[in-house]
Amino acid sequence: MLVATRRSEAERAAGEAAVFVRGFLNVHEQALQVMRTLYLRGVRDVSDREFGSVVAVLENHAPSFRRLWLTDSAGVIRHERVFHERSVPRAAGSDLDTLRTLELRAIARLARRSRGSQSSNTGKLLSGERGFAIIEAIYIDDTFAAFAGGTISGLSVLEALDSLVPGGSFSRVILASGDTVGADAPPEARFVGYRTASAQLTAPGGSPWEVVIRYQAGYPGRVALWTTALLLMGSLTIAFIHARRQALRLSERTVELERLSAELLRANRAKSEFLASVSHELRTPLNAIVGFVDMLRDGVYGEMPPRQVAPIARVASSATHLRHLVDQVLDIAKLAAGRMEFHAEPVDVHALVTEVASEMESLLNERDLHLRLILPPSLPRVSTDRTHLRQIILNLLGNAIKYTREGGILVKAQLADAKTAPAHLTGEAPPSPVTGEMSTIPPASRWVTVSVTDSGIGIAPTDFDRIFEEFEQVNAGSRGDSIVRGTGLGLAISRRLARLLGGDVTVSSEVGKGSTFTLWLAADA
Ligand code: ADP
Repeated sequence: MLVATRRSEAERAAGEAAVFVRGFLNVHEQALQVMRTLYLRGVRDVSDREFGSVVAVLENHAPSFRRLWLTDSAGVIRHERVFHERSVPRAAGSDLDTLRTLELRAIARLARRSRGSQSSNTGKLLSGERGFAIIEAIYIDDTFAAFAGGTISGLSVLEALDSLVPGGSFSRVILASGDTVGADAPPEARFVGYRTASAQLTAPGGSPWEVVIRYQAGYPGRVALWTTALLLMGSLTIAFIHARRQALRLSERTVELERLSAELLRANRAKSEFLASVSHELRTPLNAIVGFVDMLRDGVYGEMPPRQVAPIARVASSATHLRHLVDQVLDIAKLAAGRMEFHAEPVDVHALVTEVASEMESLLNERDLHLRLILPPSLPRVSTDRTHLRQIILNLLGNAIKYTREGGILVKAQLADAKTAPAHLTGEAPPSPVTGEMSTIPPASRWVTVSVTDSGIGIAPTDFDRIFEEFEQVNAGSRGDSIVRGTGLGLAISRRLARLLGGDVTVSSEVGKGSTFTLWLAADA
């Protein structure tokens, strides 16, 4: 589009310049015709003074003549004026027929034949410049009176053109019958890598003239394109550098995050190891306290004064609670550090549940709760860690007693329908972020569940995830009631242990009605 615009601009400029050149030639042609006034009183010899007065008028109206002359009717130059410092006067009495410059003889003949004006080809003027001549054959009635002529330099045409029709970024060449009259650009610039637009005109006498406009293809369109391309490249480069910087920053941040994450893991492991070793160190003196208090109460060191019975019982209960807490912290630390041991053996779930239930009997009686067991005799065996399994069931049953004021507790073991198992146990879905990592034991197709159902306080569904987190307690009991007070670690340990065994602990509950905690165990195939 830019190129097309440039071309039409050049065509318009050529047309305008041609109109001007045509007008310029006309003015000079008519100026010569003014010489006719010298013969208005008949064909005769013109005096030098008369010629001078007409030339004075012409000089003002057609200032581009370098030279003006007038012949007699025989074609001999009688009068002449030069207007350029380098022009030299001709030898008086020169005959047009003998002049070779600009082939004046030939055009004079043509002018005479046409009884009008004629312009010459271009050539070297006597001033040394390049130019052309216009000759007017003056007839008075039918009688030939004289030739009036004048020469004009190509440069003066261009100067006049420039002053009235400036060329701007175009270079212009004026051609007369194919020869250069004048050009406003150096010759090499007129041809190499340029495009042209031209307009024709007719010079006096009918010779074909042409104004050619030369312009650089695409200039300034090409410049605009280059500028756009350079700008585009510039912005692309900037965008590229920006993207690189972003990527660098991102990779730096990724490295930093990886470093932080590794540090966190290390710190977490260190914390777990610290907890494990501290808990272990706490356990020994605690065992001693519990043991010696038991012996005191059993009367090994003599009969206890009645006033000391109650405080010693308090010491015993607190020490036991503390030992339980230390045990749990030790467990959770071991599980977190991946140091919890696992010894698989065939376990009879029926027998194990019965055993744990009997251990809880005194507590149940204390709380006035009844326990019901539904244990089918034909349960498949489970290969698992007996101690861990025992701990989980003990904990679930302990919680059921702890959070139930009245009613009863039901412990039920059964072979579960695989369809009802949590999706992550059957390998259909990954564990949720809350439930954490799973054991490396592959998913089973048959599951034995041990569910503990109570008629206690229940748990709101919004707390289902929270209760399995470490040190999370919901509706914790008063600080004085060490049984109800709890530690907030039991369920976290139970779920982690269950997962270590390749299973899980799930919950369903309704506030005020009771809860069911279900332990999922992979059955032997
Ligand atoms: P705690 O030592 O506090 O019992 P747990 O991890 O065993 O710690 O339990 C976490 C929380 O889950 C308890 O504080 C309690 O709010 C809730 N919870 C656990 N078992 C039951 C249950 N059988 N009935 C009602 N709430 C329960």
